[in-house]
Amino acid sequence: MKFRSTRGDTMVGVDEALLSGIADDGGLFLPAVLPRFELEDFVQATSPIETARILLAPFFEESALAEHLHDIVAETFEFPIPTTRLDVAERCAWMLELYHGPTAAFKDVGAGFLAACLSRLTGDEESPLVILVATSGDTGGAVAAAFDRRPGVRVVVLFPKGRVSKRQVKQLTCWSDNVLSLEVRGSFDDCQSLVKAAFADPTLSTRYRFSSANSINIGRLLPQATYYAYASLRHLREHDRAAGFIVPTGNLGNALACILARDMGLPIGEIVLATNANRLIADYLGGADWLPRASIQTLATAMDVGNPSNMERLFELHGERRELSGVISAVSVTDAQIERQIADTHAALGLAVCPHTATAMYALEHLEPAQQNQDWIVVATAHPAKFESIVEPLIGEPVPVPEALADILSRPSRFETIEPTLDALSAALSAGLRVDATAPTGDK
Ligand SMILES: *Cc1c(COP(=O)(O)O)cnc(C)c1O
Repeated sequence: MKFRSTRGDTMVGVDEALLSGIADDGGLFLPAVLPRFELEDFVQATSPIETARILLAPFFEESALAEHLHDIVAETFEFPIPTTRLDVAERCAWMLELYHGPTAAFKDVGAGFLAACLSRLTGDEESPLVILVATSGDTGGAVAAAFDRRPGVRVVVLFPKGRVSKRQVKQLTCWSDNVLSLEVRGSFDDCQSLVKAAFADPTLSTRYRFSSANSINIGRLLPQATYYAYASLRHLREHDRAAGFIVPTGNLGNALACILARDMGLPIGEIVLATNANRLIADYLGGADWLPRASIQTLATAMDVGNPSNMERLFELHGERRELSGVISAVSVTDAQIERQIADTHAALGLAVCPHTATAMYALEHLEPAQQNQDWIVVATAHPAKFESIVEPLIGEPVPVPEALADILSRPSRFETIEPTLDALSAALSAGLRVDATAPTGDK
């Protein structure tokens, strides 16, 4: 399978798409041809692992990874992905729980898969791959957890001082020697600029084999289609009806995986995107121009995206507004509505939801009349215990901490604090990475 760029004629194999993350022309990779499946293809597949092996195999034909796909998938889907019935009045609704992985958010699936792939493509202790990741919270933790202890790979996590919750800091800083955690005296944007500057710096990029693991990497997107395939097939088997999905959405990586699964022939009904107050997608589908904005800070922080980069893929796959409105719809949810939803869901169902999941619960309760008698699966993207400082005051009781998260919270933290400058990053890399023994020495 070849992958093409959204911006031009670049065509690469999957290995190169995974390693480079972004195309030379600045575009994002998409499969050159999307495979089509029939329901019969999955009759034997009754687990996420078996589903993923069938669904992902076509993308890895001719790849060095094809013979490892069996193991890569087993490593990625180590945790359960249950769907539970929601006892919501006047709706047939279920919840797809994507938060049973090591850092209790759905990003564990994409990060775990990418880590399993990249460590097999590189696996070189002499000159390890150095993954730089700037994070405002969830991404860095998932990437660090996924690459923790993997030979031939180092991870450098940059996070903004004072702007990440205590539990998130733990998830960014509790890993072994191959993860270097750097607290930056600056904002998330400063962290991102530092990563970009490091990639562009000739000295640093000669000394280290830099790579990224951000959410636009196709290696994070593809495995996410698995849980939509698995959940939709199981729903059809058990209820004889196709379910629609309501997906909490920021950068559109998760929702795009759902759309791809449906494009590949899986039995998925309507797809509703739930965003926070960053309402660009909803406004666009409603008739406004596509004008990316600065992001607004909300309670659902992992969805604070003003310019969802995966929209470039969606435009390429499904065209612009008129065509798109037959593919998805979108609902924007304010902080006040998120707060009320968290309290209401707990009062009505005894269920604590995280602020991101609350946007989807809100969308479920505000469906158009024509949508109301369908089956719906609400996607829960993170465990509420990750956001206890928001959730607990609203529901008036503590949220029990899941075992994986409790384990992380019990470990010691290890990180360094640096100024937001390239010199400071460079010094921290030479002190903390221990990888440049055989590389040519630069000017520092
Ligand atoms: C990242 C994240 C989202 C948004 O997912 P996208 O793929 O960026 O749309 C939603 N909820 C949680 C908990 C997240 O960590």
